[in-house]
Amino acid sequence: MHIHIFWDSQSPSGYQVPVKRLISSILGVETTVTENPVRIMGYVTARRQVDAQALLDSIQTYKHLHQIPEPVLLVVHQDLFRNGNIFVFGLARESVGAGVVSTSRLGNEYYGRPGSDDDYIDRIAKEGAHEIGHLLGLPHCSDRECVMFKPDTLDELDRKKKVLCQSCREQLDTLLNAG
Ligand SMILES: [Zn+2]
Ligand SMILES: [Zn+2]
Repeated sequence: MHIHIFWDSQSPSGYQVPVKRLISSILGVETTVTENPVRIMGYVTARRQVDAQALLDSIQTYKHLHQIPEPVLLVVHQDLFRNGNIFVFGLARESVGAGVVSTSRLGNEYYGRPGSDDDYIDRIAKEGAHEIGHLLGLPHCSDRECVMFKPDTLDELDRKKKVLCQSCREQLDTLLNAG
């Protein structure tokens, strides 16, 4: 089993390989990264954001049409929201193996700080691994340093380490072995 990472053309170029490697090392699963073939749906002009649920629908349709059983993570640059949330870093729909992450709020520049490739790559990898973790069956974790902790702010995201805590690691091993 391997994970498909679809990288949209608007997401920062040049980060694909380091992000893919980090996600593989965080989760201990194989990943491939390719140019995104999925249509970007759900743009809401008034919000200048994309409805994450509509994007997940689009991934679901693509997976069905092309008979892709493995989990798919889409990396987009459009800012994402979902009903009830002003924004989301990412969203996963475990039942269909579809997840999405936005790079929009993950760069220092968004917060008026000096840019850093390393920060950007680390954050995309942590958020990507988090959503894929859901697709593999992991719930949220209360350990603030664990990848499966749900961050509401950039600081909370930065506090997380690029690993699963012991408990999540064991859960994931069980899930992967069961599959
Ligand atoms: Zn989550
Ligand atoms: Zn954990």
